[in-house]
Order: sequence, then C-alpha cells, then structure tokens
Amino acid sequence: MTARRKLIAGNWKMNGLKADGLALASDLAGRLNGAGEVSFDLLVCPPFPLLFPVGDAIAGSALALGGQDCAAKNSGAHTGDVAPTMLVDAGCRYVILGHSERRADHGESDALIAAKAAAAHAQGLIAIVCVGETEAQRDAGQADAVVSGQLAGSIPAGATAANTVIAYEPVWAIGTGKTATPDDVAAMHAHIRAELDGKIADPAKAKILYGGSVKPGNAVELMAVENVDGALVGGAALKADDFWAIATSC
Ligand code: PEP
Repeated sequence: MTARRKLIAGNWKMNGLKADGLALASDLAGRLNGAGEVSFDLLVCPPFPLLFPVGDAIAGSALALGGQDCAAKNSGAHTGDVAPTMLVDAGCRYVILGHSERRADHGESDALIAAKAAAAHAQGLIAIVCVGETEAQRDAGQADAVVSGQLAGSIPAGATAANTVIAYEPVWAIGTGKTATPDDVAAMHAHIRAELDGKIADPAKAKILYGGSVKPGNAVELMAVENVDGALVGGAALKADDFWAIATSC
C-alpha cells in the first residue's frame, strides 16, 4: 500500500475579518510549531483580502496557505478575478478549485475548472479539485457517474500526484451536519482512485480528501477509511480547537 501523508485543509469560505483570520492562523501556526513531528500537513484557505496579512503572519511556519479559487489567466480585463500569480505572491502553495459552492453559485463548468487548474499548475500551485454529487443524484444511483464525469472534465493535462489533490465532497454533506458513511466514503474514494488512472501521473500517490461536515467527533472514523488522505473542512475550520482536533486525529 502506498503511504500518503494526510492533508488537513481548512476552507474558511466567506468568513472572518482581518483580526479573526490573523488570530486563527497564528494560533494554528503556533500549535503546529510546538507540536514537533506530526503526521499531517495543515493548510488554511482564507478569503482573498486576508491572504496577504495571514501569509505574512504565518511565514516561516509549517502552516500552509491557499486560495479558495483563482482565474484561468494571470492578468488582464477580468474584473473581480484573482490570478494564480497573485496567490503565489501572497505566499499560497495551494488553491481550491471547483468547490460545489462555486459550481452552483457561479455556474463553473468542468472545462473552466480544468483551465483554472492548468493556470494554477503553471505557477507551481497545488490544485485541490473538488468533485461530488448532489443528494438527488445519489438517490438516483448516479453518484459514481457524476463524479467520473467531473474528474474527466476538471483535471487538466499535465496533472500529477504532486500538483493535484482531489477532494470528494458530497454536496448534500457540506455544511449540513450530514456525513457520508465510512462505507460510502470507502466505495467512492476507491472509485475515484481507479478513475485517476490515465488522468493523473502516479495515481497511487495522489491524495483524495473527504469533505462534508467533518468534525472532531467523526474525524477519527473518517480519516481511518482506506484511500482517505485527509479532509477539506469548512465550518469546523473556523475554530482552532476543532480544526486542530481533526488534524491530530489522523
Ligand atoms: C467545505 O466547505 O468544503 C465543507 C466541507 O464544509 P463543511 O465542513 O462545513 O461541511
């Protein structure tokens, strides 16, 4: 079995002002630095305006920084967009792409997500590509097919286990308090791992995160599931105690 280091990623979504972000990130960086050798990588993805202050505050620590989205281009007449180069400038190593909230709220297509991921890769960023079915699609027995289609459309040419992480986030589990059962997670992560063959170089080494109402109370069980290589955490990533408890349950 290939050993893959766990990645615990916090998606702060549109939450927190500068003081909140600085306090949370500094707290986590301090815990990480004081913990010595740990078995996981820890990542925070604040809203765009907080990237520079948080990046400056955690510079030199083991806490990694990521964006929640990026454009497919590096400059130009794209009002409101943020370039991959700008994320790198702020100290980011990662970028979340294709989160279901962006797919739903901004109509992001698989093709756009693939273009964004390619642009992120070109700047040396690790793209966390999100996939996941809605409740109606799961109930209709379409979960595997939906996720296969998203993987086929959203992973760009040139993706490798080093520059791409997949996050499986069933839409019905995000922010709802409902989580997929460990058996369902195991089945979907095995399906995703098989689907990565031919889409990502070195697929056995690629990380597949689970996301959807991960909390301290269910993290031990979920992180122990085969092919679960970490978590993408929303609500529980806003509290240092909860996020740290999830990370240390790996
Ligand atoms: C997410 O935002 O990616 C997420 C999984 O949110 P939550 O943990 O709140 O369900």
